[in-house]
Amino acid sequence: MNAHLLLIRDAEVFAPQSLGRCDVLVGAGRVLAIGRDLQLGSLAHERIDAAGRWLWPGYVDSLVHLSGGGGEGGFATRTLPLAASAALGAGVTTLVGALGTDDVTRSHADLLACARALQAQGLSAYTLTGSYHVPVTTLTGSIRSDLVLIPEMIGVGEIAIADRRGAQPSVDELARIAADANVGGLLAGKAGVVLVHLGDEDAALSPLIEASARHAVARSRWLPTHINRSRRLLDRGCAWSREGGWIDLTTSTTEALVAAGDLYAGESLAIALRLGAAAERITMSSDGQASLPLFDAAGHFVELGVAPIGSLHEEVVQAIDRHGVPLGTALATATLHPATIWRLPHKGRIAVGADADLLLLDPASKAIAVTVAGGRPHPMH
Ligand code: ZN
Repeated sequence: MNAHLLLIRDAEVFAPQSLGRCDVLVGAGRVLAIGRDLQLGSLAHERIDAAGRWLWPGYVDSLVHLSGGGGEGGFATRTLPLAASAALGAGVTTLVGALGTDDVTRSHADLLACARALQAQGLSAYTLTGSYHVPVTTLTGSIRSDLVLIPEMIGVGEIAIADRRGAQPSVDELARIAADANVGGLLAGKAGVVLVHLGDEDAALSPLIEASARHAVARSRWLPTHINRSRRLLDRGCAWSREGGWIDLTTSTTEALVAAGDLYAGESLAIALRLGAAAERITMSSDGQASLPLFDAAGHFVELGVAPIGSLHEEVVQAIDRHGVPLGTALATATLHPATIWRLPHKGRIAVGADADLLLLDPASKAIAVTVAGGRPHPMH
């Protein structure tokens, strides 16, 4: 929390919808006022002259392996925890942390400690209970008690389906997980949403469709991710979206993955909009710190790459610059929409009373010049 006042003068504000040229006054970690020619008189304040630069909400990243990920090629393929400087440099001011395949050497206590370390450095960090596996790995014994008792825990995930690395949960098990998450969320006033990792097996979204058809589970209780894993899955994801579901696009796709059939998130967003997916239920996330192992032609491990959290900003920019998605629409997938599904109304938007998580950008290069997290500016150069 920052007690001093910060006045950002004359910025082109996208909230994410365009507000035009405005001054934005920040204090005590929040946006206090938005308007033309705000006057502070003799009040002491810090000033940033934005002079036509763009002001965006800080990114809300729905999937980051905060405590490190990977390990799927042996111990040498485990990745490191995320540094606060990496998130700030990437313009990500709100992070949702999750475990992945490895819930043996990775724990919820450690994930929570990593989230709290980021909080101590000015970022907003939340976590999900569970991992790829079913029965769900929890901290306090149940999904419900985790959501009710642990302030940072806002949902469940990433539960793996249609993936050989998952536990092949039944439709009934998936419905039970969503029901528990829903009840925990109700009791704690939290989202209680289940982030679902989709693998590349044929089943795709069918288990979720069946769980919603057979049980009283609304489609909006799930956030299926890696929908841009293949064109086929993206098509199915768009059909799911048209019938009330949310979809999440992964931004850390590599050239090698694209050669194998993945699609970049920015391009996928444009395709999804053309296919009539519901724009307001599309999110993007980085899958940051996941392992991206590189193999040679013979299938031998060459080196370990780490999914960059900065890919979130890159794909938002790609969607706008290369694929013709309107700025406000692309920006909302990584700000307003994730804040909506994770029920963080003070995040992902620039509004009076919202948290002062802001990005100042150069309109020509779209490079992030300043990241404001919790009211505190971090210049990038
Ligand atoms: Zn995943």
